[in-house]
Amino acid sequence: MEVLSTKTELSDWLEFRKGAPRTLVPTMGALHRGHTSLFDLAGEQGGDVVATIFVNPTQFGPNEDFDDYPRQLEADLARCETHGVSAVFTPPPAEMYEPEPSISIHESKLSTRLCGTSRPGHFDGVCTVVAKLFNLTRPDAAVFGEKDFQQLAVLRRLTRDLNFPIRIIPGPTVRESDGLAMSSRNAFLNEEERGQAPVIQRALSRVAGTIAGGEIVSPDDALQSISEEIESESLSKIDYVKIVDSETLEPLSSFDRAEPRLLAAVFFGKTRLIDNVGLPALNG
Ligand code: AMP
Repeated sequence: MEVLSTKTELSDWLEFRKGAPRTLVPTMGALHRGHTSLFDLAGEQGGDVVATIFVNPTQFGPNEDFDDYPRQLEADLARCETHGVSAVFTPPPAEMYEPEPSISIHESKLSTRLCGTSRPGHFDGVCTVVAKLFNLTRPDAAVFGEKDFQQLAVLRRLTRDLNFPIRIIPGPTVRESDGLAMSSRNAFLNEEERGQAPVIQRALSRVAGTIAGGEIVSPDDALQSISEEIESESLSKIDYVKIVDSETLEPLSSFDRAEPRLLAAVFFGKTRLIDNVGLPALNG
């Protein structure tokens, strides 16, 4: 496995591997089984797997956890190697951004909803860094986790609207044994918060089941039921709970003909966790 930290090293390696198909898996490091499942999925496409490890400053707001974001490069590289990654691109920020960049990418529809409301500018940072990684690594395919469902939808738009000739492959959410979605931010939870956090997935899945079974027919009733269950845990503070169309992310007023996705963002202490589920009948 090659570890590449400059654009020149990366382009030399790409030249050396010329002709081999490749799949990109962008990450911010602090790798867990959610990330490694994406490496495995990328490996199943055949060809090279290029992972990137880059804590992208432009997707963090001024009061967010950029400085505190966990960084553990040695352990991450070992995980990449075990999961068949061909090359890891791990640039310092100065390698990715010019001193005063004057162009960024703004997605103007899907980004305004859900996490976009409480994290202004976040998806511009994500779109900009992913476009740069696409240009630098020129992959045939790229894998993104359904855990960050809005990000996946926004990046599909980025790929479509800017004509990147790249296949976007979604990876299912990997969970702890109690249902909590794996996340690098779970490490910030104290013991009591960690004990309560699985309520997010429990509430979303329970209500997805009742919608699929025809017991709840109105999105408003479904949202109320999810919120009540989450709020029954004393340390939870809901940022949002929404039921949206999977592609447009527009809120649903009925379940007719739509493919609903249930999403929530919930604070436990200072830690903001996100999760989402589809309907069992539609998503297997
Ligand atoms: P991050 O390092 O948090 O930026 O995530 C890098 C990639 O891993 C993104 O495509 C995420 O959606 C994906 N990812 C993060 N957590 C999980 C998880 N629990 N299951 C599957 N994919 C995940």
